[in-house]
Amino acid sequence: EAARCNSTVMEEDLDRLGSGEYSDYYTTLQSIGKGAFGFVKMGRRNKDDTQVVVKFIRKSKIFSNNWWTDPEYGRLPLEVALLTQLSHQNIVKMVMEKHGSGMDLFEFIDRQPNFDEALASYMFRQLIDGVAYLHSKMIVHRDIKDENVILNERFQIKIIDFGSAAYFERGKVFSTFCGTLEYCAPEVIQGNKYEGPELEMWAIGVTLYTLVFGENPFYDIEETIEASLKPPFPVSNELMQLVAWLLHPEPEWRCTLKNMVGNAWLHQPCDLSEYKGNRSYQKECPHHIMKGEANPPTISFTFLGDFPYGTATN
Ligand code: ADP
Ligand code: MG
Ligand code: MG
Repeated sequence: EAARCNSTVMEEDLDRLGSGEYSDYYTTLQSIGKGAFGFVKMGRRNKDDTQVVVKFIRKSKIFSNNWWTDPEYGRLPLEVALLTQLSHQNIVKMVMEKHGSGMDLFEFIDRQPNFDEALASYMFRQLIDGVAYLHSKMIVHRDIKDENVILNERFQIKIIDFGSAAYFERGKVFSTFCGTLEYCAPEVIQGNKYEGPELEMWAIGVTLYTLVFGENPFYDIEETIEASLKPPFPVSNELMQLVAWLLHPEPEWRCTLKNMVGNAWLHQPCDLSEYKGNRSYQKECPHHIMKGEANPPTISFTFLGDFPYGTATN
């Protein structure tokens, strides 16, 4: 079976690459995803028929502070530069081996037949491992959500989409947000500047809630600010406590990565053989058909004085 790779190529480079590089090496096939900043297509590496996933990034959609000057490659989108520097089993690579059938967590949640805490814990702790790795490199992803996590048939997950990522520093604050509104922390929605990790923990909490309950915890700004949880069915106390701690409206009281070390729910055993062969966990339809129109758009806003000034980017 051909391997699947993931590579990121810039749209305007296609002209240059077209006369020698990209199109000599790769054939572009059908579209599998479209986001605010470009589109993602299947492709084939010509020399060995290896399946690849190619992300085309619209340079014009990249904000000025999301560019990076690399000593070797020159001016690159930060998203591309970051991927060249990262190496972890739960983080996508610039060029990676086949990873599942291209299912993301959004789609998985959609098809999930019965909710199972052990399996949720197994996937969620890989997300935590990936984010802990990023934070140890002083990188915040800033767009953690179900559709930016892909998984394979063995429930191994990888974090993708570094289009909103940035380097952070303790004591230094961001004054712009460029992520997904439904995953944005209440203090940031209300116009407060933020260090980074506390915003990420909130988004992780929204992702956990969505994975567990199959619906968003908050659907608009008012609901996010109110931050009251109305789960559609009961789960274990340990799980509900973790969800509520991650979704604590006060950033200083919110669960941190450190707080999760040794958490019993997070480290519970999971027997993967129990889920083997369950067709609901396998991808059948082309990705873009499965996803429909339900994807929340990525939004960005810049703080002008005390108020966030919002513009939807798609
Ligand atoms: P955007 O910044 O536009 O959101 P993403 O990098 O998130 O772009 O890619 C858009 C979608 O394409 C993802 O949500 C995912 O479904 C799909 N996708 C991206 N990279 C891969 C990959 N390596 N393997 C499978 N699917 C992918
Ligand atoms: Mg994305
Ligand atoms: Mg993105």
